[in-house]
Amino acid sequence: MNLFDLHCDTAGECFNRKMSLYNGNLHYNLCKGNILDKECRLFAIWIPDELRGNDAVEYFENVLLNFKNEISLYDSKIKLCQDFLDLKEAENSGKCAAILTCEGASPFAYDGGIERAKELGVKLITLTWNSENEIGYGCQSGCDSGLKPLGKRLLRDMERLNIVADVSHLNTAGFYDAVSSGARVIASHSNSKSVLEKTRADSEDKFFSCRRSLDDEQIKLLVESGSLIGINFCKSFLGDEGDDGFEAVYRHMSHILELGGENVLSIGSDFDGCEINPELSGVDKIPALEAFLLEKGIGKELAEKIFYKNAYNFFKNVLQN
Ligand SMILES: [Zn+2]
Repeated sequence: MNLFDLHCDTAGECFNRKMSLYNGNLHYNLCKGNILDKECRLFAIWIPDELRGNDAVEYFENVLLNFKNEISLYDSKIKLCQDFLDLKEAENSGKCAAILTCEGASPFAYDGGIERAKELGVKLITLTWNSENEIGYGCQSGCDSGLKPLGKRLLRDMERLNIVADVSHLNTAGFYDAVSSGARVIASHSNSKSVLEKTRADSEDKFFSCRRSLDDEQIKLLVESGSLIGINFCKSFLGDEGDDGFEAVYRHMSHILELGGENVLSIGSDFDGCEINPELSGVDKIPALEAFLLEKGIGKELAEKIFYKNAYNFFKNVLQN
């Protein structure tokens, strides 16, 4: 089967835990990925909220250097893609097509920063992580304001330079600012708030998970705008302890499909960035998830859209420009 995964933190884990991209003890590695036919994977470099300014730049560049070094060691298995030709080449030679992203905009949060991101090959920027940064407010910041003036300027640069804006982690007002900015916007790894509200027992963690997820109005807006929503495998964004495996994924998917999401629903596993139920905890579990969904009545054609084609079509467009 084919997989297009919109979010993983594997590059950062390889750097921080000195793990091999080839066979490190990770949710994702190239050996586990062998189970797939075609594979495209967005590799995020996550910027912790305490890193700002030069510290964020330095951290990003160190993780990227290490990631590029890992890729060069295993270049028969993986190719870092700058454009659609690269993606086709990776596809035709059975390699993982790697696309570079940055989670938390701090390394590029200055006028002219998006040009630098473009030079480094970044194709998508998740605007904030959970707290406030230079350009806006994350879902845990406690602030209801929209994007800051710098954030709005950088979104115009992202539109011009064809870098996708990712609204996962952003607060609600920031979400609406981003969606109305003219830039291409996706939610790379976010689930349904209303599903969580209905199915999770009340707790602090539930309230955080709900703030981190998309309400129905946001989902409909992303559907109407031809965006993407990647289902996140993080336990607490799927359901309560023990109800956070395949069945929970199906629940979130069904809800997004009911809201018209057939052409936007995708996978944003969050591999190597969170705690995941054993049913889902690795790229090698993806075929079993597909089999489960087919059993549940999601047709083969729709499953192919969710696991690959929706995201492929979107990024084909991004990479061709
Ligand atoms: Zn994240």
